[in-house]
Amino acid sequence: MPTIYDTNIAYFYISAILDENTCRICKELDGLHILNNESQLEKLRGYEKGIKSCISLHGCRCILVGVLKEELGSDKIVAELKKAGGILPKSYFKEKAKKRLKQSEILKERNDLAYELYSRGRKLEKTNITEAIRIYTSIIKDFQDIGPTYFLPVLLRLSLCYEKKKNYRECLEIIRRGLAENNKFTFHRFTQGDITSLSKRFDRCKQKYPRYKKQLPKIFNFGKWLEILYKFGFSNSDWEETSISLAEKFEKRPSLNDVAWTLFNKAIVNSKNSKRLYELYSHMADFLEEEGKEGSEKLRDVAKKYKL
Ligand SMILES: [Zn+2]
Repeated sequence: MPTIYDTNIAYFYISAILDENTCRICKELDGLHILNNESQLEKLRGYEKGIKSCISLHGCRCILVGVLKEELGSDKIVAELKKAGGILPKSYFKEKAKKRLKQSEILKERNDLAYELYSRGRKLEKTNITEAIRIYTSIIKDFQDIGPTYFLPVLLRLSLCYEKKKNYRECLEIIRRGLAENNKFTFHRFTQGDITSLSKRFDRCKQKYPRYKKQLPKIFNFGKWLEILYKFGFSNSDWEETSISLAEKFEKRPSLNDVAWTLFNKAIVNSKNSKRLYELYSHMADFLEEEGKEGSEKLRDVAKKYKL
């Protein structure tokens, strides 16, 4: 039985039975969230053995439910409770749930709209390629936040239209953008076939437009690096959390490379074991090499220091 003195508890909420024998005071207090800290101790003591002001003839049957700090999402509720001075009513959380639902409805509507535009573009490719390009460009501009389901296919189709129209510079830019965007997504990524045809198109357009000097970004090998990070104790939720915190920091979706790199650095900080450090630094050197970035030699030197 969790008590208010248990420091593993993040917060409590009052749970009433909510049947015909429940009094109006308990009904009102049902779902009240209270932070588990010093400042709320008096209040919590008052609720610990039921609601004192309960007027039910059957006596109060409310219980104080403790939520552990380790429970998913409890840290967010604690932050909100702290902001609110320690106490928040059930209605507050109901409002939040309503807002979330509204947001997911809007997202679904936008997804449907993006799909409709995409289908329209596909139909127009044969008869009016300029209009198809205009539609695809508008999807890219207006829907870059909805995820890869339509976004990546649109970039692929747009590159095809640009090549047909002999807009080689635009085509090259869009292919680079497509592969860079692909590196941000975990699911619905380009297939191997997509990547092959995009690379071939890139080479063709480069021959037509030799002034273009930029290279294609390297495809992030998600399966391989995730498997390696798993071995160092990271799970999907670590991946997810890091991705979210990087997105908040940079105010845009991070690339998978950035997420993997951040996790490698976390592993380094948490490792005290020489063998692990040797392996980690070696993997990080491989990673940089695969990315075509500098610094791998330095990391190999560091790795050597930990080799037993
Ligand atoms: Zn009552």
